[in-house]
Amino acid sequence: MAKVKSKLEYIWLDGYKPTQSLRSKTKIEENFSGKLEDLSNWSFDGSSTEQAKGGSSDCLLKPVFVCPDPQRKNGYLVMCEVLNADGTPHPTNGRAQIEDDDNDFWFGFEQEYFLYDLSTNMPLGFPAGGYPKPQGPYYCSVGAQNAYGREIIEEHLDVCLDAGLNVEGINAEVAAGQWEFQIFAKGAKRAGDEIWVARYLLERIGEKYGVYVNYHCKPLGDLDWNGSGMHANFSNTLLRTAGSKEVFDKVCEAFRPVVKEHIEVYGAHNELRLTGKHETASIHDFSYGVSDRGASIRIPVLVPAKGWSGYLEDRRPNSAADPYKVAARIIKTVKPVQR
Ligand code: ADP
Ligand code: MN
Ligand code: MN
Ligand code: MN
Ligand code: MN
Repeated sequence: MAKVKSKLEYIWLDGYKPTQSLRSKTKIEENFSGKLEDLSNWSFDGSSTEQAKGGSSDCLLKPVFVCPDPQRKNGYLVMCEVLNADGTPHPTNGRAQIEDDDNDFWFGFEQEYFLYDLSTNMPLGFPAGGYPKPQGPYYCSVGAQNAYGREIIEEHLDVCLDAGLNVEGINAEVAAGQWEFQIFAKGAKRAGDEIWVARYLLERIGEKYGVYVNYHCKPLGDLDWNGSGMHANFSNTLLRTAGSKEVFDKVCEAFRPVVKEHIEVYGAHNELRLTGKHETASIHDFSYGVSDRGASIRIPVLVPAKGWSGYLEDRRPNSAADPYKVAARIIKTVKPVQR
């Protein structure tokens, strides 16, 4: 039988600060089974990604998630953790910080982002040298005067679904050229893996259109345009079976003394976004409330309706945050809480 040469795209996060970017390279392998356990570690030049010194430049890539690459013949996408040459987790490896052995934590991330025109460096829908009409009509809009870049986001949705990623929905957002996708997974590592692979696919699709993804949380600065978040919806058995308001209060209160620790991993420049305006809470405060989109943590309206069981939405993580680090921190805060 003829040998199939598979294209394995090894994907990892570089060491850039304050926001890590995606890197990838292709490995050709004969007759790859499609299974994670059949993937071998690989290496790369860490001195070109701010992850090592030139004198001992090799970092290791450890495959942790694999799925088909629907846009490439015989292709697979291979999400990797970065390890030091001795096999220990590299300091830039947020996934290795996740303490969640039993996948009791479920996460649903809402990834917001802007699509930017490479030739103007402005969001799609922004006329050259000016601004489109003010916010109002764009959120969940239809029509060429309101929704910009639909062919890109539709292609992205199809590719994510074909890859087997658990996208739960997409929508046009409040600013022109701003969109959102949601991904849900049981297990923090899986949720982070799928968000990163979905980001990778979005950026790669954008290449064809001369459009890039701007993950900055407040790309239009102080003007009256919304920023981009990555709301983290989460639950564990305690929340899913709480049955009382007291449990929800207890979990929310556990966040109050560790605001600084959370904000540290909730994405760069969040002080520009968490102003108390544009459906955000101030970065200096901590608050929670039912159905409150101006709170740090929102208790979805369905929770009291379902006898106080369900999940919470931390609205503070921003579009540029690393979902691995966000999830790791939420687990650290919530796991010790007992009924
Ligand atoms: P909104 O825009 O109103 O804040 P979305 O519908 O965009 O809400 O996102 C809500 C997210 O919450 C979805 O991604 C969904 O998967 C997630 N979610 C729902 N139930 C749970 C749960 N029990 N645990 C964790 N996440 C959940
Ligand atoms: Mn080389
Ligand atoms: Mn949403
Ligand atoms: Mn949104
Ligand atoms: Mn939300």
